[in-house]
Amino acid sequence: MSRRKIAVIGIGKIAQDQHLPVIGASDNFELAAIVSTRGIGYGDVPVFRSPGELYNAMPEIGLVSICTPPGVRHAYVREALDAGKDVMMEKPPTTTISELDDLIAHAVRRDRVLFQTWHSQYNEAVYRTKALLAEEGVQSARIDWRESVRKWHPGQDWVWEPGGFGVCDPGINAFSIFTKVMPFPVFVEGAKLTFPKNRQTPVAAEIRFKSSQPHAPVLSAGFNWLEESDEIWTIAFTTGRGNSVSLEGGGRLLRVNGKTVLEHGDAEYAGLYDRFADLLDTRQSDVDATPFRLMGDVFLMGARENGPAFDW
Ligand code: NAP
Repeated sequence: MSRRKIAVIGIGKIAQDQHLPVIGASDNFELAAIVSTRGIGYGDVPVFRSPGELYNAMPEIGLVSICTPPGVRHAYVREALDAGKDVMMEKPPTTTISELDDLIAHAVRRDRVLFQTWHSQYNEAVYRTKALLAEEGVQSARIDWRESVRKWHPGQDWVWEPGGFGVCDPGINAFSIFTKVMPFPVFVEGAKLTFPKNRQTPVAAEIRFKSSQPHAPVLSAGFNWLEESDEIWTIAFTTGRGNSVSLEGGGRLLRVNGKTVLEHGDAEYAGLYDRFADLLDTRQSDVDATPFRLMGDVFLMGARENGPAFDW
């Protein structure tokens, strides 16, 4: 089968690190154009300064992958759907849940495929953890998500603006795994959000969850964006049978009772584009709002405290 023509919109860190090379290696997709407000090029594909210019000039491109920050995503996705495009979009989906609901409804109205990506879910160790917890249940869970904002969002001031999520931008990756593998629903019971005194979004968060389970499992999360040693992207569970299950490396390493049972490399974005190809084949959308709703509840329930100023 011939490869489908796709355009990538927003040529920042994640587009350059993942989307463009993964599309380049894909059997399903052909990079046919890019949209970059700064005019960033890639290979010899045409570059447009706005999505509208792309849609006018190359109407034969039926797919777009939107890699901008969430603040402009609602407008960009709506514009793409109105132009008749099927859409894949980065996480976090939008800045508000109402905007995401609107996009879901609009994709139905326009009869287009809408794929909300959660890249951290696309790991074999995550699927195995889900199966294990479905069998053994959960007594406790602790999420530790710590990384360096300077390394992962270098110079990106949008992360510190309202709608930029702060440390909850990577934290939502943890939630995308957590909500996928947990065998029962969880709710935010309370949260403490630490804001640099000169910024609008949190640099750290400590969160307590509750559930409706009679055995009252103990569930919590800690996010920190000032971890300069190395990434700590771990979710540690104690199962109902008393086994320790530790999902590490952002979902790429699974240990049970301290013993490594599965470890693999990075195939997240290849998995996302395979999934998009399947959705296009079957003309289905895939939008899971659960991680986003849980993060919205963190902001609703979060007590605020001011911390030291942050500068790059
Ligand atoms: P980034 O480096 O700031 O890139 C975003 C790009 O979007 C910009 O370079 C710009 O590209 C374009 N853009 C269009 N309108 C913009 C606006 N109003 N403000 C800022 N940029 C605008 O950000 P990123 O790290 O690639 O993150 C983009 C999305 O991917 C976020 O939702 C993020 O959560 C997600 N993500 C990031 C990572 C990571 O490691 N950084 C990992 C996974 C997912 P042009 O100049 O080409 O238009």
